[in-house]
Amino acid sequence: MEEAILLLGGNLGNRELALAQAMKKIEERVGEITAHSSIYESEPWGFEDKNQFLNQAIKVNTELNPQQLLEQLLKIEQSLGRVRTGKVSARTIDLDILFYGNEKINTDTLTIPHPRIHERLFALLPLAEITSNTNLPVLKNTTEELIKVCQDKSKITIFNFKR
Ligand code: AMP
Repeated sequence: MEEAILLLGGNLGNRELALAQAMKKIEERVGEITAHSSIYESEPWGFEDKNQFLNQAIKVNTELNPQQLLEQLLKIEQSLGRVRTGKVSARTIDLDILFYGNEKINTDTLTIPHPRIHERLFALLPLAEITSNTNLPVLKNTTEELIKVCQDKSKITIFNFKR
């Protein structure tokens, strides 16, 4: 059993419902969700779009290996109506693996820890809520330390406090 940390995001349709549906499917197909952050609202990153994103970070205990985990997440994205356009664009749901236990993975299909965590406040702020002051796997910094040096100046607000 390993603990994976995932980032959920989406900016199309009923965004809150998409996050809730993704969490339900993750519980069914991946494993038990042991922690979740509040939901944050953020500007699209790297492309122009009128729809803001919602993001949420979760911890999940899973028996799946990293590749199996990725395959399940891609299936869940598909089942929730994500259409891949081949470029960075608006999406109903995006499921990223931020960490998988203490593993460092670099294959054609997977890079873990996710290579852009430290650049993006929309990942760091929800992550901080569920990792508190402990060092992150592999990176050996706390999330708070990464937030302090992060250059991202985009506006991120809490959309829905953790319940
Ligand atoms: P995206 O369009 O951002 O959802 O990219 C999804 C693709 O990124 C997947 O098909 C994976 O092969 C690849 N990928 C590489 N590293 C990761 C990761 N840590 N989490 C999720 N997808 C990843």
